Amino acid sequence: MSTTPAVICLDLGGSFVKLGVMDAQQQLTILDQQKIPADSWPDFTALVSRMIQQHQLHFSTDSPLAISTAGIVAPDSGEMFASNIPAFHQRNLSQALGELLQRKVIVHNDADCFTLAEAQAGVGKGHKVVFGAIIGSGVGGGLVADGRIITGQNGLTGEWGHGPITLTEVDIEGETIRLPRQPCPCGQKGCLDSYGGARGLENLHRTLHDVNASSLDIIAGWQQQEVQANRTIQVWLQLVSQPLAYTINITGASLVAVGGGLASVTALMEALNEEVQRYVLRSTQHPLVVPGAFAHNGGMIGAALLARQVA
Ligand SMILES: [Zn+2]
Repeated sequence: MSTTPAVICLDLGGSFVKLGVMDAQQQLTILDQQKIPADSWPDFTALVSRMIQQHQLHFSTDSPLAISTAGIVAPDSGEMFASNIPAFHQRNLSQALGELLQRKVIVHNDADCFTLAEAQAGVGKGHKVVFGAIIGSGVGGGLVADGRIITGQNGLTGEWGHGPITLTEVDIEGETIRLPRQPCPCGQKGCLDSYGGARGLENLHRTLHDVNASSLDIIAGWQQQEVQANRTIQVWLQLVSQPLAYTINITGASLVAVGGGLASVTALMEALNEEVQRYVLRSTQHPLVVPGAFAHNGGMIGAALLARQVA
């Protein structure tokens, strides 16, 4: 009788390599975490080989390796775009690691993987179209339809954080607040990314009040109804909810699973859902915008599910 092999899972971030295993019952166990040698390909491959070797009792020879990473994979060439991890930037990671480890290797963007995990096994289960909105230090996204990741041109999909779209005027309690469209590292001006994630929230607070505060302090201040923090969050909700509502109108998603650090702030997610429901063409009885079930390790779970899909 054939059995489903365990999937070896790797999460490659800007500062760490995390190793896990997904068993036949789709349970993920984290086995190891190491600092990533982000600048050296030989050191990086040696570390990955050693980590898998050290935990080989958990895997079989036909276990595929599923990698979730902050980088983007070009669909035609397999080449990585991961400027913050030079070790494998512009390399064909799946091919090179596959030859080195003599295993099937799949590599995919972590926001896409998170969205697949949520659509198949998390808060998006049962929904035909699920949008994954990453609101971490920056803003990213992924799209899953009929249980499959939609991979767009150059590997990009669901990038609702980029484009010259932010509002330049927001009305809060009868007062009009004007906001500059700020330059974004992507080369455009006015991207949601400059105000949308935790880094953006801090930038917004500075822009509005000329005060430096951490995103955690701003959120805590909002929850304590502190005037400046409250103002910042009210403006933030306007800036983020409209592009997200627009994204829902375009994709037809019936559920947005939120990942990234700000997803863990339940009250903020409830307020965001309320705002988004005001702006979508058709609001829903069920919450549209909800924190994902796999805030931690959703990327690894999704990569493993993807490896099973393509096996
Ligand atoms: Zn941008």
